[in-house]
Amino acid sequence: MKLLVFSIRVLFLLLFTFLIFTGNMMVWLGLFVVSIVFSVFFGRIYCGYICPMNTLMEPTEWLSKKLKIQSVNVPKWLNSEKISFVVLIASILSVILFKRIFFINIPILPILLIISVVMTLRFKPDIFHNKICPFGLLQKLFGKHALFSKMVISDKCVGCKLCENACPSKAIEVSKVSKKAIINTAYCYQCINCAVVCPKSAIVYRKK
Ligand code: SF4
Ligand code: SF4
Repeated sequence: MKLLVFSIRVLFLLLFTFLIFTGNMMVWLGLFVVSIVFSVFFGRIYCGYICPMNTLMEPTEWLSKKLKIQSVNVPKWLNSEKISFVVLIASILSVILFKRIFFINIPILPILLIISVVMTLRFKPDIFHNKICPFGLLQKLFGKHALFSKMVISDKCVGCKLCENACPSKAIEVSKVSKKAIINTAYCYQCINCAVVCPKSAIVYRKK
């Protein structure tokens, strides 16, 4: 399963690179719009399997840990979801204004890709995923009540927290009260990290 997920991500990364070099980024934006509709039904599949930022952030995090430059001390200003609204508005305005005033197509997607990698060199991936990414913001807004999502079967969960530590998006947490893991669908991008480490096979993808 891991190999399948990896292959899907690499294929979409190659497609993204091809579209950048051939100047067809509108095709990618079209794909994103379709994924937004999908997120209402199937959750943030785009973030987990299609997004080139997420694909590059995984090895970047590995490198960051190896170089021991990852910090858990996130500045207060960066720890706010409002930033993603600002980044979304700034991205849209800069694309429109540069086109109107300078007749230049700003490469907004590659710019965001570089930001995601640089951020992940310093901070855990959830900071970019949940606090900065404008695409993640839209996926979150549309996907938070998704019809299908990863869910925890409470009866099977023993509260070991292995899933919590494996989640790159801080979407799953063991409740201090019930001692059972709970998934926040708004943050969950439907990957397989939590399910593969769960010793009780308590995490499944199904209709909510
Ligand atoms: S909760 Fe599980 S499926 Fe959702 S993002 Fe975290 S690790 Fe991936
Ligand atoms: S890894 Fe499985 S058993 Fe452990 S807390 Fe998560 S869902 Fe529960």
